[in-house]
Amino acid sequence: MCQIFPAPQGLESLPQGRNGRAFLFSHAMNITVGPKEDRQLMTGLHTVADVYCSDCREVLGWKYERAYEESQKYKEGKFILEKSKIVVEENS
Ligand SMILES: [Zn+2]
Repeated sequence: MCQIFPAPQGLESLPQGRNGRAFLFSHAMNITVGPKEDRQLMTGLHTVADVYCSDCREVLGWKYERAYEESQKYKEGKFILEKSKIVVEENS
């Protein structure tokens, strides 16, 4: 587990991480964004960039740079972070 992320507004849980469930974040801290590449995901073709923990360099998920499907456009500029890799701080 790398870091604590505050639970974002409208947290969306998606079953599309490489290793299980993942969350869609509108922003993320303490990460490094890798080079962009086109990747075929379950929801279609996207331009994505892997994101790494800026601390330990572990891959945490990816950033959606561009979505080609109209229905997926809302993900552009957002981050998918795998639940198994991060600690989410729930608001209680
Ligand atoms: Zn880390």
